[in-house]
Amino acid sequence: MSSQPVPVTIGSAPPPPRTVPDPDPRRGSPLVDTFGRVHRDLRISLTDRCSLRCTYCMPEQGMEWLARSSILSVDEIVRVARICAEAGISTFRLTGGEPLLRRDIVQVVSELAALRTPDGKPVQVAMTTNGIGLDKVITALADAGLARLNISLDTVQPERFAELTRRNRFKDVMAGIEAASRSGLRPLKLNAVAMRGVNDDELVDLVEFALSMQAQMRFIEQMPLDAGHTWDRKQMVTREEILAALGKRWELHPVPGRGGAPAEKFRLDDTDSHVGVIASVTAPFCGACDRLRLTADGQLRNCLFSTDEYDLIPVVRAEDPELNTDERIDAVLRACIDAKKAGHGINDPGFLQPARGMNAIGG
Ligand code: SAM
Ligand code: SF4
Repeated sequence: MSSQPVPVTIGSAPPPPRTVPDPDPRRGSPLVDTFGRVHRDLRISLTDRCSLRCTYCMPEQGMEWLARSSILSVDEIVRVARICAEAGISTFRLTGGEPLLRRDIVQVVSELAALRTPDGKPVQVAMTTNGIGLDKVITALADAGLARLNISLDTVQPERFAELTRRNRFKDVMAGIEAASRSGLRPLKLNAVAMRGVNDDELVDLVEFALSMQAQMRFIEQMPLDAGHTWDRKQMVTREEILAALGKRWELHPVPGRGGAPAEKFRLDDTDSHVGVIASVTAPFCGACDRLRLTADGQLRNCLFSTDEYDLIPVVRAEDPELNTDERIDAVLRACIDAKKAGHGINDPGFLQPARGMNAIGG
């Protein structure tokens, strides 16, 4: 079977047959979409499973996990990543679910860090983690070539942490953050989702804590991506509100030159310290988006909010060597990029939340 790739639409419609595309003549050239955005960043979700159950990400119970047999192996991940690097992807961010739950995490980092872009430069490997267990593997990860870490922390209050994550793991997270602070991995970033009536009274405390760890605090607007589909716009603390709260404590100086970065950066007073705000909902940054996503079960997504996915499994697991080729993997990548829309459309009246939750997409 060989034909143009068909996006898999997630939702009530039956999925179209899995197809294998023909090779694309653009193989090896940069991944440019129809709006001229050049893609440089691949987010790789290593698993949909997690050691926490953050309220904005997963329901307490009733999660349906991806079948273990569908999860990409290290070889499959590295092969897809190599083809991405050949097309100019230079940053790989490992995420999940919780990436540290993968027993082969050090091998994943080490093999990805060995990849080179077409101009011979080493790629950068970064990770977003909840920090649990990080203290035990951070040295091995750094030795394997991990360049940067983002750790999620929504509160510095142990009881609130237990409520918010539905797990009593505050001490483990702190141990992970302290180990990251002691390590040479910089910049170190801490991420918090700001939520009304939940943690919006401790935004300043979170920044102070991050500064004490030589880290940069970043606040994220809550997005409609929870697996339980419970997002409520009124609960979201907006960019404006975040800046107003921080502005009472520090003078915030906008830092120019954001490029494709999701976070707007602000310098605190006249110091060298910064805070970041990721305003995905009220100030979308889709115009400069250079990101592509690979789910743990081998689906390519051109946006966090896509309802279409591009299936790599019929290629990477094809028994027929005519179908199982690097050229055809590259063709799936290009079909996915070609279909990327101008923006995520969260604020459009017809917006549909993707069926997958953030834990299964990879944040
Ligand atoms: N488990 C790791 C962690 O928490 O850092 C990596 C995966 S998690 C899905 C990645 C990031 O997505 C975290 O910083 C988390 O706070 C963020 N996130 C999850 N659900 C979100 C939502 N509904 N809105 C905004 N950010 C969300
Ligand atoms: Fe797990 Fe990260 Fe989702 Fe929290 S945000 S439940 S730590 S995947």
